Amino acid sequence: MFYTKYRPQKFSEISKPNDTAFALMNQLKSEKTVHAYLFIGSRGTGKTTTARILAKSLNCKNLTKDGDPCGKCEFCEPGAIDLIEIDAASNRGIDDIRELRERVGLMPARGEFKTYIIDEVHMLTSEAFNALLKTLEEPPKHVVFILCTTEGAKVPETIKSRCQVFKFKRATVSQIVERLKEISKKEKIKIEEGALRKIAESASGGFRDAETLLQQVSEGGLDVESFVGSTVRKNHIKFVGILLSRDCKKAIEFVNKVFDDGTDLYTWTAELVKYLRDLMFVVSGVREGLLDVTQEEFSQMEDQAGKLNSADIVILVEAFNKALNDIKGSFITQLPVEIAIVTYCGETENEQNNPESFGSGGSSSLQRGEKLSNEKYSSAKYPNGKNINFDEIVERWQEVVKVAVQYNHSVQALLKATRPVGVKDGRVILEVFYAFHKERLESPKNREIVEKVLEDIFENSIGIVCVLGDIKPKTSSKVETGELTDYNVIATNTSPADIDIFDGNLPA
Ligand SMILES: [Zn+2]
Repeated sequence: MFYTKYRPQKFSEISKPNDTAFALMNQLKSEKTVHAYLFIGSRGTGKTTTARILAKSLNCKNLTKDGDPCGKCEFCEPGAIDLIEIDAASNRGIDDIRELRERVGLMPARGEFKTYIIDEVHMLTSEAFNALLKTLEEPPKHVVFILCTTEGAKVPETIKSRCQVFKFKRATVSQIVERLKEISKKEKIKIEEGALRKIAESASGGFRDAETLLQQVSEGGLDVESFVGSTVRKNHIKFVGILLSRDCKKAIEFVNKVFDDGTDLYTWTAELVKYLRDLMFVVSGVREGLLDVTQEEFSQMEDQAGKLNSADIVILVEAFNKALNDIKGSFITQLPVEIAIVTYCGETENEQNNPESFGSGGSSSLQRGEKLSNEKYSSAKYPNGKNINFDEIVERWQEVVKVAVQYNHSVQALLKATRPVGVKDGRVILEVFYAFHKERLESPKNREIVEKVLEDIFENSIGIVCVLGDIKPKTSSKVETGELTDYNVIATNTSPADIDIFDGNLPA
């Protein structure tokens, strides 16, 4: 197997840039290695390879000046006996770890260190973890543990805190292409760079998968054109395009065709969810994580992201993620995906075509009289505010919003989601659309800021009081719970009818 044959034997052979290799070489150079490491990363990202090189380096007699093993001394030879690899997936019980603890006491056969690599460490039972913890708390001087896992979240904090943790990133497409080029050269495989790129793209960041695919292609068992990665993504881009045009019928037909063509709908939907997640990153302006996306695909994604706000993309991701979970238990395989389509098209259609349902700008603003009469206002605190002019407040409200940012960003964001609807007893009455906005705006700290801004602008001591508007945008559930609080989210969660409020352009 190429993966075994070309497995890096030295840190310097690991694909660069690689922060972990760099850090470990520095530790080795300065003899500052520790007794327990935890390597976290998805499969094929080089955890075991790095662990083996580290184990070798710990005993190597002639480390290079960079901290790389020499590759020649007795400890660098393959099959070093002071390295023990344990697969926690098949040795996950307390007895296995007890046995390990007993063995740990034994001195290394030849070298200074005995290294234990525990692969898939998250598979250990909790009793086994406890037993391991005892060893990690007082490791013998000659022992080094390297725990590897694909699921860092499943490793108990107590274990993590005893280890130096390294996170292994997925390789980028160009890193994988470079590596495949090297191997092709050594194996004398004639293959175009475009084909290598396709292989790299479909390996989604794992060297092992990429090298296995290269081997299958070179041995004639696999056709490059059959590679899923890129083709499937094109398919998803097209599908999302249909969704965004809200053509429910066409989207359902599309999915049924995918199904009829013999594609495994579960895998297809899983890839779709991945794509939507990437799209969510683009919508939020995050590019990190989009590793295997071509430039052309990225610009298509940007195009689609431009048509979505954060509320829409969340609905999309949630709808199809639910479909994914439901497919396996569904009597009609494609039904959950169809439901997701209808859910998405339905929800966003209402928002788009039916702004009335969210209130129509300002015309309703002074129907608040009844509510206000229930509020008790004291004018004592704002003696000068009695003469405030409502029209002037409305006219200069945008100024208020602008100036607020000098004091506090989130106060500005809160103000953008309000509008003045009246004045009473020295205070401006602000209409707010979410209970949690009201709460936050009325907190002593934020209220003080707003009052300071009002004083700056109107040269008058003016108070505020918030009233809850009874009309809310449909997608308000997340905002109300207070999960989404930053400026962008507040702004993008508005329905079209609310936009003029956020711009500060108040109705006449
Ligand atoms: Zn050596």
